[in-house]
Amino acid sequence: MSAPLYSTHLYTRIQEQQPRVGISACLIGENVRYDGANKHHALIQQEIAPWLHLESICPEVEAGLGIPRPPVQLIKKPEGICALGVEDKTLNVTKALTNASKRLASSRCNNFCAYIVKARSPSCGSGSTPIYDITGKQLVGDGLFVAALKKALPHLIIVEESHFSDIQACSNFVEKCYRLHKKIGEN
Ligand code: SF4
Repeated sequence: MSAPLYSTHLYTRIQEQQPRVGISACLIGENVRYDGANKHHALIQQEIAPWLHLESICPEVEAGLGIPRPPVQLIKKPEGICALGVEDKTLNVTKALTNASKRLASSRCNNFCAYIVKARSPSCGSGSTPIYDITGKQLVGDGLFVAALKKALPHLIIVEESHFSDIQACSNFVEKCYRLHKKIGEN
């Protein structure tokens, strides 16, 4: 990473001293997607990863759904938002995904300053995930994991990877995490 553009705090490469930030595992190149691929994000790797203690999590793998696995989508039903198979309409992973999401949100994620998530994912999207109503109309909202994060940790900064389109956006995010980390350390 080039020198931070706005550095009001001393950044460190010592991982134990860096702000802890969660990240959707596919974004740092882990082959955890439903199709066994990843969504490696070069700018996050180059401009953010050296300065933050990134902790990768794939909620769908944590839910035991396996790699590869059938793709799922979110459907809005009277009983709530369900994660159902795209091709196999009988597949329902709502319970497994919801339970894993709640467990992760209240354990591994509760000392994070922030979380970088994959846009549009039925698990990781934040405000961008397609949700279909029973007539087939498409709405947008949160993935099931992000919904659990927001409920358990309302002050957590959650940013989709699509936000990091240039070095300035990356630098601003790192700066924000250090500021928050310092504030938490002072309390
Ligand atoms: S569940 Fe999240 S981390 Fe896992 S592959 Fe999908 S977007 Fe990536």
